[in-house]
Amino acid sequence: MEKVIIIRYSEIFLKGKNRGFFERALETNVHRALKGFDYQFIKQSGRYFVRDFDQTQTETLIEKLKKVFGVHTLSVALETASDMDSLFEAAKLLARDSGTFKVESHRGDKKYPLTSIEVSRELGGRLLAHSKGALRVDVHEPSFTVRVDIRENGVALVFTEFIEGANGMPVGTAGRGLLLISGGIDSPVAGHMMAKRGMTVDCLHFHSYPYTNAQAKEKVVQLATVLSEYACGVNLYNISVTHIQEAIHEKCKPELMITLLRRFMFRIAERHAEHIGAQCLITGESLGQVASQTIEGMTSSNSVVKKLPVLRPLVGFDKDEIIQRSVKMGAYEISILPFEDCCTVFLPDFPAIRPKLCDILREENKLDVEGLIAEAFTTMEKCKL
Ligand code: ATP
Ligand code: MG
Repeated sequence: MEKVIIIRYSEIFLKGKNRGFFERALETNVHRALKGFDYQFIKQSGRYFVRDFDQTQTETLIEKLKKVFGVHTLSVALETASDMDSLFEAAKLLARDSGTFKVESHRGDKKYPLTSIEVSRELGGRLLAHSKGALRVDVHEPSFTVRVDIRENGVALVFTEFIEGANGMPVGTAGRGLLLISGGIDSPVAGHMMAKRGMTVDCLHFHSYPYTNAQAKEKVVQLATVLSEYACGVNLYNISVTHIQEAIHEKCKPELMITLLRRFMFRIAERHAEHIGAQCLITGESLGQVASQTIEGMTSSNSVVKKLPVLRPLVGFDKDEIIQRSVKMGAYEISILPFEDCCTVFLPDFPAIRPKLCDILREENKLDVEGLIAEAFTTMEKCKL
């Protein structure tokens, strides 16, 4: 008897002629997630099987596979011969010691001598007798279910759990986006959501070293690493906006610091996105969350982006919902580490909540926008995660 992992993928992308394209992306991503482990990977009747792996590492493999978008559910199954004695041996290993249960059978091999119902009845009866009264059958609300899948060639799979997968679409099937990543809670979640829809995500972070410290930078590396496990690898680009912030601080109205900085960030991001072949910008903005995230604030930063769409997957989310997602993806504990972000450097006491475009343009005209952008690009560093 051998443990195998069953990978079932969502049926949404099975429709249409692109099926092969989505399947190949999913296969590549599974191999990426399991890199460094020994295993066999087999595709069979609309599912995948991972087998011949070190069985002491089952949990680790499952944790890795739970991060692969496009995976609907997973099961750890015992593969056994399909005769009743072998099924019973497998079922005994998986059944709990007590409680209510039922057996559900599925027959892929239509030549099998018993019907699905007969298999369930026989196996249920044997388990009941074996438990000496500790188990009871409840077909409506059992505390656990033994599932039997009788396959062709005299082989069967026996398992109890459907483990929820990451769902979504395989990364690599929906273009490339450039995520503006800060050290906060929101932007990693925004990147995760786009990766879930199949988008390849690269990250761009702006820092104000030496006003912000090396730990702040390291925090972003850690966040991008967490995202990378879902997004099948990300490139993280770091650019310094120190001189831009100093110039704004020196020449412009303090209440417009964030608005003006945002416009620099978006300009740089769009140019960089085009350079790396990204087709959109992604931010973690959520309407009304902070003073700069009003519709006026978003309009002001959007208006410097000329060609690409700016995707804001969190725009309608409450902070609570974002935090839940952050916890679930494993980023939250890193996000709440207390290191300063560049946006908190030179922060005015009263940022403009509804900045007017004419005021913004007047202040911006005091700056050498192109020169500052060109200089910022010279500070760019790249790391592959
Ligand atoms: P986050 O939790 O992502 O930091 P936030 O609620 O703190 O978001 P802001 O600081 O207003 O909101 O930032 C809004 C968005 O702008 C962020 O989600 C991110 O996409 C982008 N952004 C902010 N600061 C930076 C930065 N230092 N580098 C890159 N992008 C940034
Ligand atoms: Mg922030």
